Amino acid sequence: MSILVAPKALEGHSVREFQMLIDGQWVGGESQRSLERVAPGHGVIVSRYAQASAGDTERAILAARKAFDDGPWPRMTAAERSNVLLKAASLIESRLEEIAFLDAVEAGKPITQVRGEINGAVDIWRYAAALARDLHGESYNTLGEGTLGVVLREAIGVVSIITPWNFPFLIVAQKLPFALAAGCTCVVKPSELTSGSTLLLGEILIEAGVPAGVVNILVGTGAEVGSVMTTHPAVDMVSFTGSTGVGRLTMANAAQTLKKVSLELGGKNPQIVFPDANLDEFIDAAAFGAWFNAGECCNAGSRLILHKSIATDVVARIAKLSAGVRVGDPLDPLTQIGAIITPEHLQKIETYVSSAATGGARVAHGGAAVNFGAGQFMGPVILDGVTQDMAVAREEVFGPVLSVLTFETAEEAIRIANAVDYGLSAGVWSRDFDTCLTVGRKVRAGTIWMNTFMDGASELPFGGYKQSGQGRELGRHAVEDYTETKTLNMHIGPRTGWWMPR
Ligand code: NAD
Repeated sequence: MSILVAPKALEGHSVREFQMLIDGQWVGGESQRSLERVAPGHGVIVSRYAQASAGDTERAILAARKAFDDGPWPRMTAAERSNVLLKAASLIESRLEEIAFLDAVEAGKPITQVRGEINGAVDIWRYAAALARDLHGESYNTLGEGTLGVVLREAIGVVSIITPWNFPFLIVAQKLPFALAAGCTCVVKPSELTSGSTLLLGEILIEAGVPAGVVNILVGTGAEVGSVMTTHPAVDMVSFTGSTGVGRLTMANAAQTLKKVSLELGGKNPQIVFPDANLDEFIDAAAFGAWFNAGECCNAGSRLILHKSIATDVVARIAKLSAGVRVGDPLDPLTQIGAIITPEHLQKIETYVSSAATGGARVAHGGAAVNFGAGQFMGPVILDGVTQDMAVAREEVFGPVLSVLTFETAEEAIRIANAVDYGLSAGVWSRDFDTCLTVGRKVRAGTIWMNTFMDGASELPFGGYKQSGQGRELGRHAVEDYTETKTLNMHIGPRTGWWMPR
């Protein structure tokens, strides 16, 4: 088992009330309904959000449309937009503790981890601010005496941004600042489970100088709000992060009006380990990759593909390290694994574990939920002897569950790694760089880590192959993703008639 840290009561904390942001105004919404968030680590209500209806969503979309068609934001210089983004980054930094507390209690994340995520988000806002000033097109002075070609990059228009609950503040930072840098206007819908930090971001953006209607933020369900955001004819693009199933639905909805769609979806990410790897380094990375964010992470290294000769030793060492992992109170600075997002999700994780055990996998570590009397928790679970036919080898469990498979040849390892519908990321471990490169090139995934895992930087593009998504976020093309290309084909001098030479 791991070290258990029972959550302390949320003393002196009152329920935080939030409204929605439409056209620069904080409003209660036409139906005056609200959604309440029960903290997954504490079992008490921590936030109450005004709940948007389809009508509120339409109003927000039309406000964004007007702000794009008639407002100042797309017409400002890139330098002006960049300065607003930089100011937003500094304001986020100055309110870091407030944002971190909200994400920790609403999502059940360890507070120390969330502080890191918010610092990461600040860096992304600054990176987007820098890219804003470098957005440019192309020119062709090589098309003959009478022709000049100029290719412009123009903001695509109104963007619907839909985000999940697992990294509430970080994921909106992978989209919104780049859309704003391009000059777009946006309607943002965070997950209805963890909307608080995105609503705080709305306050920050107003203070930073984002004009009314440029960023609208709605809390609501996918069926009621998300469906309007993905089908409304006034929306030009949808940027979605979430499950592969809802991603598929989003794409189908957006297809009705042929919106551009960017999708960041699920993963079943393998870590392939060869016998010559630095195993001390790998053991730590394996635990980090699998237990970080309680495994509720698209990038979780949830499949170990170990060379047969080292498998027994590696599993024993990860189990030993996992026994020292601290599970529990999201607000304790030493906690490494916080709460599971909802009771229903915990049940889903438990079902995956029990059906793997019934199907012949060996539970090498953990396996039972942790009961602190309130909230829902699960410590690390290691499933050894997993075979490709088991659901835990192919499906995203989204919990602290590590599936161990083995291989004998590099070809076999590549085949196992690629034998899932996902292709988000993968790790390859060997001291021989030939091995890392040969295997890394053949694994079909958007990011390949070599002798490391789940590292990242604002400069590095991120996204998935296969059913892990479409398009890339971050990196130097991230602003371009929110643009249209316009060709200016210019003629110089007398025109040649098309029916006969003059
Ligand atoms: P989800 O798909 O259930 O929900 C994501 C968002 O979509 C939420 O805001 C939800 O309200 C909204 N939504 C639901 N139904 C909708 C509909 N019909 N139309 C429009 N929007 C709708 O995902 P989740 O459970 O919140 O998050 C977990 C999933 O997200 C996992 O599969 C994970 O792998 C994925 N994820 C991917 C990345 C990545 O970058 N690839 C990052 C984080 C999470």
